[in-house]
Amino acid sequence: MSSELSKIWLSSPHMGGKEQDFVNSAFAENWIAPLGPNVNGFEKDLVNYINQDKHIAVLSSGTAAIHLALVKLGVQSGDEVICQSFTFCGSSNPIVYQGAKPIFVDSEPSTWNMCPKALKEAIEDRISKGKKPKAIIPVHLYGMPYLVDEIHAVASKYEIPIIEDAAESLGSTYKNKSCGTFGAYSALSFNGNKIITTSGGGALVCPTESDKQKIVYYSTQARDNAPHYQHSEIGFNYRMSNISAGIGRGQMLVLDKHVALRRKMHDFYVSIFKDIKGVKVLTEPNENFKSNHWLSAITINPEQTNGISREDLRLHLEKYNIESRPLWKPMHMQPVFENTPFYGGKVAEKLFEQGLCLPSGSNLTDEDRERIKQGIREVFKI
Ligand SMILES: *Cc1c(COP(=O)(O)O)cnc(C)c1O
Repeated sequence: MSSELSKIWLSSPHMGGKEQDFVNSAFAENWIAPLGPNVNGFEKDLVNYINQDKHIAVLSSGTAAIHLALVKLGVQSGDEVICQSFTFCGSSNPIVYQGAKPIFVDSEPSTWNMCPKALKEAIEDRISKGKKPKAIIPVHLYGMPYLVDEIHAVASKYEIPIIEDAAESLGSTYKNKSCGTFGAYSALSFNGNKIITTSGGGALVCPTESDKQKIVYYSTQARDNAPHYQHSEIGFNYRMSNISAGIGRGQMLVLDKHVALRRKMHDFYVSIFKDIKGVKVLTEPNENFKSNHWLSAITINPEQTNGISREDLRLHLEKYNIESRPLWKPMHMQPVFENTPFYGGKVAEKLFEQGLCLPSGSNLTDEDRERIKQGIREVFKI
C-alpha cells in the first residue's frame, strides 16, 4: 500500500518562488561567500519582521546561535547553565561545548515549556550548593510561547540572563510581541524542517549593534583589526553564507503565509479530535499566546481511549506513508545526559510517553489532509 502513496512529511521545505532569484543574483555578482548583499538584506528583513529595537546576526545554524550567546555571556568551563529539559539537543549541547554543566528543568502542562516553579527551585538549590547559574535557556517548543512573564520574573529576581530559544517560534507572539525579542539574546533556526528554511542556518537576535558586531566577529574566527591574520581570542566559523541568505530573503516573502497555513493545520486537527476522549491538541492557554503552530502536537491518554496509544496511531499512519513522530525525548532522560541534575516532576516525561507530532507543513494538500483524517478515524473507529 505505502509504495503507491507519496510520503506525507511531518514538516518539509516549502519554497515561495522568489528564492532562486536571490541565489541567482549572488552568482551573478560572484558573492559566493559568508558575506554579501543577501546576508545584509536577510538580517534587515528579520529585524523588520520582529519589529523591535534589535540587531540580528545570521549564522550557520540555530545551535551556533545558542553557542555564541553563551560565549558572549562569558559562560566558561565549570559554570552551570539552566535549560528546559523538554527540547531538542540543539538547546543544550552548546552548554557542553563550553565545558559548562547543564541543569535541566521540567515543563508545566499549559504550554509544555519551562515551569517557573521548578526554575525557582533549581536556582535556589544551585545557589545553596555554591554556584549561581550563569544563564537560563527556555524554549518556545513547537511554536508555543513559554510563560514569558513568569519565567522572566524569576530570572530577573536572581539577575540571571535569559537565552531565549526561539528556533521553532518565528512568527509566534506573546502579548502581541514577537518571540525572539524577549531574551538578553534570542536564537532562531532556519533548518530544513523549520517554518522557513535556508537549507541550514540560524540567527542570533542581539540587544545592540555593538553586541551584534561582536557576534559577527566570533562567527568569523575572531580576527583582530590588522592587515594580516591576527587573533587575540578563539573564534568560530559560524557565519551564514550569502547563498543561504538568498534563500532566506525569498522565504521572508512567504513567512506570514506559512504561519497562517500551519495555524490552519492546527485547526484541522482540533476539529478531528474535538469529539475523541483522551486526545488533547496543544493549544494556546489564552489570548496572550499566539503560536505559529510549527508542529501540531497531541497527547493520547490510553486510559481514556480504550487502550489506544500514541504508538498505535503512529504505526497506523506509517502504513499510509504518513510521517508522525513522538514528542522530544527530555534531555534528562537521554543517555548522554545521565547523572545531570534535574528539577521538577514528571510533566516532560509524561508528554514524551503520550505525545505525538502530526504532519504540519504549510505545503500539505487537501488530498493529504483527507488521507491523514482517514488514518486517524480508522484508529479511533469513528
Ligand atoms: C532546530 C532547533 C535548534 C537548533 O537549530 P539548528 O539550526 O538545527 O542548529 C535549537 N533548539 C530547538 C528547540 C530547535 O528545534
